Amino acid sequence: MGDCIFCKIIDGEIPSKKVYEDDRVVAFHDINPIAPVHVLVIPKKHIPSLLDLKEEDKELVGYLHLVIQQVAKEMGVDRDGFRVVTNTGLHGQQTVFHLHYHLIGGRQLQWTM
Ligand code: AMP
Ligand code: ZN
Repeated sequence: MGDCIFCKIIDGEIPSKKVYEDDRVVAFHDINPIAPVHVLVIPKKHIPSLLDLKEEDKELVGYLHLVIQQVAKEMGVDRDGFRVVTNTGLHGQQTVFHLHYHLIGGRQLQWTM
């Protein structure tokens, strides 16, 4: 979709370090990791944010969660735990407007706002 950097990553126009891909979902390493494991899991469908999800996306979002679970296992963070974050809008500090889930782990996380 236009200038969306994550759509360009999906299309291979912008390089990324992919850790998972199928017909509906892609996961790749965040370019600016905040933890030893920091992967972005995104739908191939361009959905700007969580606020744009529609009834028809219910199955896709459920499926995304199963992919997150699988990637968490592959990245070895399932045993000690991890965090999944979807920043939304201004106060959520969303910077890329293509729905994405941050999978963060590999160290003890703190809860700070
Ligand atoms: P958010 O601020 O929640 O919208 O998250 C956007 C994330 O995308 C940030 O953590 C960025 O580091 C990451 N990011 C931006 N550009 C790229 C890129 N080309 N490859 C991988 N991650 C990126
Ligand atoms: Zn996009």
